[in-house]
Amino acid sequence: MRASSAEPMTEDLATIVARHRHDPRRLVEILHDVTEAYGFVPKDIITELASMLAVPRGHVEGVVGFYAFFSDEPRGAYRVLFSDGTTDRMGGSIALLERMRATFGLQGEETSRDGRLSVGTTSCTGLCDQGPALLVNGHAIGGLDSARLGDVMALIRAEAPLAAWPRELFAVRSNIRRRDLLLATAIRPGDAASAAARRGRADTLAEVARSGLRGRGGAGFSTGAKWAACAEAPHAPRNVVCKDDGGEPGTFKDRELLADHLDLLLEGMTVAAFAVAARHGFLYVRAEYRFLFAHIANALAARRAAGLLGPNACGIRGFSFDIELRCGAGAYVCGEESALLESLEGRRGIPRNRPPFPVTHGYDQRPTVVNNVETFMAAARVARDGASVLRDLGTRTSSGTKILSVAGDVERPGVYELPFGVTVQRVLDEAGASRVQAVQVSGPAGTLLSARELDRTIAFDDVPSAGAFTVFDDRRDLLAIIEHHSRFFAHESCGFCTPCRVGTTLVARTMGRIASGHAARRDLVDVARVARVMAKTSHCGLGLMAGNPVLQGIEKFRPVFDARLRPDDALPTFDLAASLDKSRDVTGRDDSEAHFTEEVRP
Ligand code: SF4
Repeated sequence: MRASSAEPMTEDLATIVARHRHDPRRLVEILHDVTEAYGFVPKDIITELASMLAVPRGHVEGVVGFYAFFSDEPRGAYRVLFSDGTTDRMGGSIALLERMRATFGLQGEETSRDGRLSVGTTSCTGLCDQGPALLVNGHAIGGLDSARLGDVMALIRAEAPLAAWPRELFAVRSNIRRRDLLLATAIRPGDAASAAARRGRADTLAEVARSGLRGRGGAGFSTGAKWAACAEAPHAPRNVVCKDDGGEPGTFKDRELLADHLDLLLEGMTVAAFAVAARHGFLYVRAEYRFLFAHIANALAARRAAGLLGPNACGIRGFSFDIELRCGAGAYVCGEESALLESLEGRRGIPRNRPPFPVTHGYDQRPTVVNNVETFMAAARVARDGASVLRDLGTRTSSGTKILSVAGDVERPGVYELPFGVTVQRVLDEAGASRVQAVQVSGPAGTLLSARELDRTIAFDDVPSAGAFTVFDDRRDLLAIIEHHSRFFAHESCGFCTPCRVGTTLVARTMGRIASGHAARRDLVDVARVARVMAKTSHCGLGLMAGNPVLQGIEKFRPVFDARLRPDDALPTFDLAASLDKSRDVTGRDDSEAHFTEEVRP
């Protein structure tokens, strides 16, 4: 079935499905293994798989079609995906991609006629501090330049099996630049969970609430309140889910946390499980970090061997808890917690209607705590050292520290842990930035800051951050960056609701015209209107935030936009109001009066 021997086929379908206990909830994992074995998911395998799992064929087909890392079309024995993050582009990834395509005579996303190679792009590989990067059959290669790409192409031309490629090519450099509360000191495995057990469930929940710990994913919901709601919810067994950064462009801190601080994370998950009386944990890690999977599996095995997971975990009588490693498949929307739960249950990552919320109806409709890596790590410190360990750092509304992924136009890109309340300027000074034009905090969905706002602070009540901190100096084309961010949302929209599906495409196209100097003022008015409609009517956070790059860009960098607009104000050729009629029908909301009469400020 495979065209060459990049990775020799090792398993048949029956073996793969048996390993996953014929459990349809493990469909995403099964499809990863099928892709590993066959290079893609052949159509006859989809049929066979559906029968073996006793689910409709359309279900398996839908899941294959939803995730970027799966395909039912044959792909090359070497499947190369160039990282298309903003910083990859800033580092010259487009020229490298074009060079590879030209060398092998490929156009667009096609596969070479001999079946040897397919070349495409993926949104972000989480190597923004050491890009440009690409994935070969899911394995990350960073620090690309002309010479390194030449090495990769020579290996492909020679049809060298991936296992025989020099290990140095796949090396990912550790890059923590500043350590504070969470990264400066390790804690002994089991200490935090034992401290929680001594305190008791109720007091552990109270201690976490007292610490002021808020979810580090950006929204900042109180961790104590979330855990308490889950603990009180009926219908056990309860679950604990850890999501990593979910592919937010510009974020790579979880790569470092999973590589070097995994025990603190596993400790935090164990504390949460004890506090809410959960039996099962999931660690959901993006597929781009598969080079960490063996390390994570070993750490879980070591904790089991040490009695820190399993029956009577951490020596706590009657407390049975274990953690399962799960892999994403290239869908940014799975950073939304209900979409992630759908993925964990073997479905497409379509965000659920809420309420009910995951704390009462999460994995398998059971009460579930979902937090990110950094939140669990902070919870472990609170459990061991008490609420004051967080309260004594940061600000009144944002206690503790924030771990930032700093990249872009800085001398020292990397991971920085700093107390909440730190100014943006201080972060820039730490990383070595000058001639700053703009800073994108928390990825394209977050906050775009101008050079006039560098005294603002990283805190939930000022500039909240899920982790990304990307710097653009005054040589960068900001409109091209905003266009790229808009295209990212159009690409990642799951397509479930019309405002986001249609709106993100409209915004991306219009931003393309604006950035290339083919738009007039009328287009600016239209693109802002669409962005506002998305912000009011979309089903989940992705659509609600997808207009942020363009709206904040217009608000803060209006002269940059104006300078690129055509002087003639051509009439629009597209009936915007009519195109959104369907979305109003679907959502049952008609905001046309409120939003379509509003003008962009002159
Ligand atoms: Fe999907 Fe976008 Fe709607 Fe979210 S807002 S459900 S990502 S289409």
